[in-house]
Amino acid sequence: MALIVQKFGGTSVGTVERIEQVAEKVKKFREGGDDIVVVVSAMSGETNRLIDLAKQISDKPVPRELDVMVSTGEQVTIALLAMALIKRGVPAVSYTGNQVRILTDSAHNKARILQIDDQKIRSDLKAGRVVVVAGFQGVDEHGNITTLGRGGSDTTGVALAAALKADECQIYTDVDGVYTTDPRVVPQAKRLDKITFEEMLEMASLGSKVLQIRSVEFAGKYNVPLRVLHSFQEGPGTLITLDEEESMEQPIISGIAFNRDEAKLTIRGVPDTPGVAFKILGPISAANIEVDMIVQNVAHDNTTDFTFTVHRNDYQNALQVLEQTAREIGAREVSGDTKIAKVSIVGVGMRSHAGVASRMFEALAKETINIQMISTSEIKVSVVIEEKYLELAVRALHTAFELDAPARQGE
Ligand code: ADP
Ligand code: ASP
Ligand code: MG
Repeated sequence: MALIVQKFGGTSVGTVERIEQVAEKVKKFREGGDDIVVVVSAMSGETNRLIDLAKQISDKPVPRELDVMVSTGEQVTIALLAMALIKRGVPAVSYTGNQVRILTDSAHNKARILQIDDQKIRSDLKAGRVVVVAGFQGVDEHGNITTLGRGGSDTTGVALAAALKADECQIYTDVDGVYTTDPRVVPQAKRLDKITFEEMLEMASLGSKVLQIRSVEFAGKYNVPLRVLHSFQEGPGTLITLDEEESMEQPIISGIAFNRDEAKLTIRGVPDTPGVAFKILGPISAANIEVDMIVQNVAHDNTTDFTFTVHRNDYQNALQVLEQTAREIGAREVSGDTKIAKVSIVGVGMRSHAGVASRMFEALAKETINIQMISTSEIKVSVVIEEKYLELAVRALHTAFELDAPARQGE
């Protein structure tokens, strides 16, 4: 008999009818003899609705109070699912994060899970119950409700699977697995049978929101077998694995990720002296702003230009800080651009193949898409381009790296 943790996302519990369907599915699984712990998200749109309400009171809602409110979305769905199971004769019980005791740090709105008490869940399972746990939420050591960041129910699922040493963590969603890129943008995207933790981590951190980054980190760290599946269609889904199979068939690129959440800042005519990068980025990090890509040009006439990207939400703050720095260090000018996007190709195959980056640049050049910034690591190449070319770039790269699914008959 196996122990399975199943997580159902917002659209999968978006209506009462869907919750009933989820209950049917869980019931069938349980009839197969497995122990089931279910994690659910809020109904789709609910978390956004709650955040909008808070924003009507204040632009920057107090983080502690925001958590008290947004955590209610998941409290509704756990109760509805438990009711739907009980109605079907399946013994079930629901718990909030606090009731299980999913202990987190106190970083409201982006808390990290520190520890999970598995006592209550284990005794319920032993008594034959399905345990339904609220995703996205926990409690800190002082008893404050915390939440884990957008998409955080994935992390609740994986963390519970790790704590319970579950046989598998199944992430049920509105696509039937992890694709070569977001199938909403590229209809020819292909489902992957397998992807390594390492690649999935890059894809998630470069913008593929199918799994929250921390859930992949957790799964890799505790070696939790993780699978992404469609909630209401049969199929094998995508397994996230440790092993990198050496096979001739292995494509060089596994996937393409993209992100519209960044903005670019440039400071020009900076006196090129030792410590200049620190003078520019020190105040940015002191303002608690995370920097992603950084480019410093080769000095010319003893001055240099420096460009970096930040999250779009931090753009106005970063601009103010940078203007202040420019005055202090005597730089010529500061400029910024929020209409950018980052496109990345990801694949462990890059380790053993040369020329991957140039193939990427060639594909973009063919579409006359200008590359503004480039950054590379062992298994990814990212470029910043103008936002309006994002879809075109992703499609062109998908074709250039031979990821397109073969056209179906009649298409
Ligand atoms: P849930 O509410 O179930 O957590 P999400 O909306 O968070 O669902 O994640 C599923 C969505 O992720 C899909 O509908 C799809 O548009 C998007 N997505 C982005 N990149 C990928 C990818 N590489 N493979 C599959 N889905 C992706
Ligand atoms: N309900 C939360 C969100 O919308 C958490 C989740 O769905 O994973 O971000
Ligand atoms: Mg999600």
